[in-house]
Amino acid sequence: MTSLVGLDLAGRRVVVVGAGAVGVRRTRRFLEDGARVVLVDPDPSDDARRMASHGDVDLLERQVAETDLDDAWLVVAATADDTVNARVSAWCEDRRTWCVNASDARTGSARVAATGRHGDLAIGVVGVEAPDPRRAATVRDALVRHVSAGQVDLRRHRPGHGRVVLVGSGPGDPDLLTTGGREAVRTADVVVTDRLGATGILDELPDDVLVVDVGKSPTNHPVPQEEINRILVEHALAGRTVVRFKGGDPYVFGRGGEEVHACRAAGVEVEIVPGITSAFSVPALAGIPVTQRGVATSVLVTSGHAGADPATTGALAAGATVVLLMAVTSLPDICAAALADGVDPDLPVAVVERGSTAHERVTRATVATASTVMADAGVRPPAIVVIGRVAAEGFLDDPVCATGPSRRRHDG
Ligand code: SAH
Repeated sequence: MTSLVGLDLAGRRVVVVGAGAVGVRRTRRFLEDGARVVLVDPDPSDDARRMASHGDVDLLERQVAETDLDDAWLVVAATADDTVNARVSAWCEDRRTWCVNASDARTGSARVAATGRHGDLAIGVVGVEAPDPRRAATVRDALVRHVSAGQVDLRRHRPGHGRVVLVGSGPGDPDLLTTGGREAVRTADVVVTDRLGATGILDELPDDVLVVDVGKSPTNHPVPQEEINRILVEHALAGRTVVRFKGGDPYVFGRGGEEVHACRAAGVEVEIVPGITSAFSVPALAGIPVTQRGVATSVLVTSGHAGADPATTGALAAGATVVLLMAVTSLPDICAAALADGVDPDLPVAVVERGSTAHERVTRATVATASTVMADAGVRPPAIVVIGRVAAEGFLDDPVCATGPSRRRHDG
């Protein structure tokens, strides 16, 4: 019979005898697990030499000797010679050291499981009877797919210490929520969510997961930040896993840093799963590359709350792309300041409302016309404003426009 056990190889010596394709593949895997690997082969492959020259492994370029196994926790016999593998396997048996025999898994004392990862879970499959690595890998892939599909309840059942996970959920389309973010949500006892981002996926959660919407209170005002911090800390201190589900990326105008401070101050462990920020993804989906070689080589991401900030007009004057969040109200002031500062009145402006959702709408104007055009169109938040040559209508359809010489200041 075979018992499946999880070995902690971190910092432990693993000896791999035979540095051909199989030995190198196993070595890579053990290195990922943090093992100290010694490779033994009189004629190692180029890959093995490369690993040794990078300092990843110790390479002994000679026939294996029994003393090479001194202090080994695990040995892999992966030479092309069955008798050598059998000899190594027999030494290990005498020494009470686990050994994987690559020529005949049945004669070794250990087998390597086909292993997949999902977050902090390792999912392993070994054949109990005759080994069949391809079959084990197929089953492993199926299991990993199933767990990753987001339908498995991954909440912790041991009453452990609570924690907070800040999850960036992207601009709204659930396809733009990372697998890490999706999985974190699956571990949550409590989800504290905003209005923006991929909130649709929260409908799939089991009924006993508490979802607290802090995007809007009954008075239609967002819950104050101090109150959000208090909710996070309170649930975590009660031993719960709390996911703080935020639009875009938590650290891009998301007050994620303040939440981290509040958690740390209360002694609550906090992790972050970055998200795809709307600042870059919403323009991208609207056909706007925020940088383009020869056209815009830098980009300023700022908020409309800063109003007509000199940094914004300065960036525009220098030919950078400016991406503004929360700027629907202040756009007229910003454009007026830019014009006063000598920025080209024909410089394109694009406003993308509710990017990545079914309600996405793109409205185009110029710095001179934006104020009127946006008002006439009834543009409303949430919206991303992009100012710069990359924001021109059809920019990506026109190779000349997309590579032309940089136009800097308006000089008329
Ligand atoms: N942390 C978020 C930004 C939060 S500030 C991020 O990284 O994306 C909120 C602002 O983000 C909104 O006012 C709007 O300017 C922008 N925003 C977020 N999602 C958006 C979307 N789907 N479409 C357009 N703008 C969006």
